[in-house]
Amino acid sequence: MIAVVGIGPGGREFMTYEAVAAIEAANVVIGYDVYVDLVRPLIGNKDVISTGMTREIERCNKALEMALAGKRVALVCSGDAGIYGMAGLMMEVAAEHPTLEITVCAGVTAATATAARLGAPLTHDFAIISLSDLLTPWEKISKRVSLAAEADLTICLYNPRSKKRRDHLTKAAELMLEHKSPTTPCGYVKNAGRDGETAVLCTLAELAQQDIDMFSTIIIGNSETKVLNGRLITPRGYHT
Ligand code: SAH
Repeated sequence: MIAVVGIGPGGREFMTYEAVAAIEAANVVIGYDVYVDLVRPLIGNKDVISTGMTREIERCNKALEMALAGKRVALVCSGDAGIYGMAGLMMEVAAEHPTLEITVCAGVTAATATAARLGAPLTHDFAIISLSDLLTPWEKISKRVSLAAEADLTICLYNPRSKKRRDHLTKAAELMLEHKSPTTPCGYVKNAGRDGETAVLCTLAELAQQDIDMFSTIIIGNSETKVLNGRLITPRGYHT
């Protein structure tokens, strides 16, 4: 059997009991090196197969091979395994084996971890958009950013910037500025739940100049989002 396990953004305190139990019950733990290291204390002397980034298909094939050989496999992903994670890919790779048990353990995704650190910015409708064009054409990404801004959704951006994609965030900010005010409150958290965690508030006009990297998640408010006592808040609509 295979458990696709979302381990949350960082340390053990962000993991669900289900995720901890799935890793403890496994004979083999498979994942990207960084995530395997985050759960190392739970692994003990189990077999570990860790691979570099972007080797997802290889990891799923390995998980399938081990599970078919009778092992209990935990395939670990950061955050939630079904949000830009490997849960769907694992099911596709195992499509020819419908009787193989595959479970998915939900995890705390970067958006909610980031929101909690910044205040309460996701208390109304929001959209999560990844700025990575590795698997999605930029035309589709930019259309989604534009329409989400036009719909006045609070927007969470994953994969906001990498060494190869320096200008996507700048372009996304320009698109959002066509529909949102430059003073729209925003925030981002770098390394949520991990060593070196930083949380920063800024405005939409200032966003593109921020020191944001691929370990950051950004939240751009809707037209009612405000900063109250240093915390980013989107009102739910209650009359206080
Ligand atoms: N499955 C993961 C998302 C993987 S996509 C989840 O549910 O959280 C990778 C992106 O997630 C990163 O580029 C970043 O935007 C975000 N992310 C993952 N871990 C993070 C963390 N600890 N702090 C801030 N952002 C994080």
